[in-house]
Amino acid sequence: MNLTTATEAELLARRDRLREQYAALKGRGRSLDLTRGKPSAAQLDLSAPLLSLPGPEAYTGADGTDVRNYGGAMGLPELREIFSGPFQVPADRLLALGGSSLELMYDCVAHALLLGLPGSVRPWAAEQSVAFLCPVPGYDRHFGICEQLGVDMIPVPMTADGPDMDRVEHLVARDPQIKGIWCVPKYSNPTGVSYAPETVRRLAAMPTAAPDFRIFWDNAYAVHHLTDAEPQIADVLALAAAHGNEDRPFVFGSTSKITFPGAGVAFLGASPANVRWTLRHLSRRTIGPDKVNQLRHTLFLRDADGVRDHMRRHREVLAPRFDLVERVLTERLGGTGIASWTRPEGGYFVTLTVPDGCATLTVSLAAEAGVALTPAGAPYPYGRDPHDHTIRIAPSYPSLPELSEALEALTVCVLLAGVERLLGT
Ligand code: PMP
Repeated sequence: MNLTTATEAELLARRDRLREQYAALKGRGRSLDLTRGKPSAAQLDLSAPLLSLPGPEAYTGADGTDVRNYGGAMGLPELREIFSGPFQVPADRLLALGGSSLELMYDCVAHALLLGLPGSVRPWAAEQSVAFLCPVPGYDRHFGICEQLGVDMIPVPMTADGPDMDRVEHLVARDPQIKGIWCVPKYSNPTGVSYAPETVRRLAAMPTAAPDFRIFWDNAYAVHHLTDAEPQIADVLALAAAHGNEDRPFVFGSTSKITFPGAGVAFLGASPANVRWTLRHLSRRTIGPDKVNQLRHTLFLRDADGVRDHMRRHREVLAPRFDLVERVLTERLGGTGIASWTRPEGGYFVTLTVPDGCATLTVSLAAEAGVALTPAGAPYPYGRDPHDHTIRIAPSYPSLPELSEALEALTVCVLLAGVERLLGT
């Protein structure tokens, strides 16, 4: 039934039934979790051989480096070679560093504030104010970095092709305080959008009032396909260089959702000047990365084909979960006129859009019924969704039966919140 065209009597009857269903859900006393995009145990098992690598005999890199010792600030060359293709960064400008790309992003913003970047007139912290463009809905932890470090956030709407580029170009051309933009260019968190080639070109080419404007290109889902298409996005570093803006992009990525989150390898790719800048600051901070872990990853993944094969095995575990989300949402919410959702071709998330003003209510109803969701508003700067209509679903972690149960419960909450809203109750 399309609830938006239903009569009041029909809505009241529906509400009564939904209230009963909801009471039954609460009575079950379940505890289910759709909050964070964590790999499931079955996915972690795919990388189990890592736990016994490199083994007692293997401790030299291809060039004879003893990985057990200090040194090699750029990371193991053979691992950088493997990820050069997936991250679209020439290996000599791709650094393999610690275990978290978020950490690298944080450091980059912090160092820019403290010390300035190539092209900066002064450290960012010496500016009157500094702002980043934040495509929304976006990744809450990017916004957390800005909030923590005092960087203002300017939301920019996401479209099916990436950020609204008319708006982005308009803003960056006028305001020298706008120093950066957060981008998750492939299978974006949480919308699943991959940036169109023209979006990437415009980001790389656009005039900016700030001479030290940076694109924080967080390619966290570069190889995380859910279909056979396995598309490649446009090459931001090459495009920026072609348009005379070589120093504009900082590319980030990691093996967090390839091998073990927290025990993987994080990468940073950029122009020669940015790489020198990064190494200069890093060399004061560390004497070198964990090359033992990098060797372990090299031996396990072998080459770019090895990464692709491994990611296909992830897909076998993940795709049925995304199919289940699509099936349950279609069965329970299709045709109701009060919900729409994304059908991602990769990445970790589905974005569910409910009527304006209903997301917070839906999330709290779900919490009371034992289903934990990411707080409504989280994918927006300062946690404020101006329409209060976005809910992020992360289906990777629960088992299929748990996921099914959680989604069924969630749809009851969406419908109940929607009907209450339509009735004005
Ligand atoms: N970027 C995005 C867009 C993510 O979704 C995540 C993980 N949820 C990260 C970065 C975190 O990456 P890492 O584990 O390398 O810090």
